[in-house]
Amino acid sequence: MSDFNGKNVLVLGGSRGIGAAIVRRFAQGGGQVAFTYAGSQEAAEALAAETGALAIRADSADREAVIATVADRGALDVLIVNAGTLVLGDPLELDADSVDRMIDINVRAPYHAAVEAGRRMNADGRIIVIGSVNADRMPFAGGAAYALTKSAMQGMVRGLARDFGDRGITVNSIQPGPTDSEMNPADGPMASTMHGFMAIKRHARAGEIAELAAFVAGPHGAMITGSMQTIDGGFGA
Ligand code: NDP
Repeated sequence: MSDFNGKNVLVLGGSRGIGAAIVRRFAQGGGQVAFTYAGSQEAAEALAAETGALAIRADSADREAVIATVADRGALDVLIVNAGTLVLGDPLELDADSVDRMIDINVRAPYHAAVEAGRRMNADGRIIVIGSVNADRMPFAGGAAYALTKSAMQGMVRGLARDFGDRGITVNSIQPGPTDSEMNPADGPMASTMHGFMAIKRHARAGEIAELAAFVAGPHGAMITGSMQTIDGGFGA
């Protein structure tokens, strides 16, 4: 694979799960990959050693750190905003600060990162955010705040696609359904409930999400913009 040979790629939130699979895929494709992490230093260092990618500690809840990290990478070819958190629970009981922190990480960081990338991105660049099928379908109680953050990505990519389209830059959301990771283990307590909503009753593998990201970011994705690319085993069908 050499589909990203020499491309300047930044993945926000790349130390584990879907983000780590994306780092591996773009590094295997020849990209000059950098990724951020917040808490998982050991995993980040191991991934950097494995792939040759550069690991950068930057908390997505810190707006200035996000903006500075994106700016430091110069003219990007690909920005993928994967960092996200999941706060579930009865909205009457949830702690307001943890909901606001999730909004900082899942909404404010992708917006500021995408805008900062757009300032100096190369022509035909690619901006991808990892949204969720929960932007379209929230079939159980307790997910209102998380769904809010992921549906916010839909408005953002539609708008930024128009802001940056004259330079050939595409802006899209990839919307996974249940995907095996520490956030949502395939053998976790909610797995069989989730599989009940799906046509293909299994968690996706992180690598399957990474392959879709590679397609959207690759040369064949040039006319895909302002779109939601759902990869959910039929969860939203
Ligand atoms: P994980 O919890 O397994 O991994 C999350 C990744 O994001 C880690 O690399 C983590 O780094 C990073 N991250 C989290 N918070 C921050 C922060 N404040 N600053 C920088 N990095 C951060 O999650 P997944 O891989 O499952 O999820 C990745 C994305 O996919 C999220 O946006 C999630 O909402 C979305 N998604 C996941 C689904 C699933 O079923 N798994 C389904 C639909 C969408 P560190 O540990 O270093 O902090």
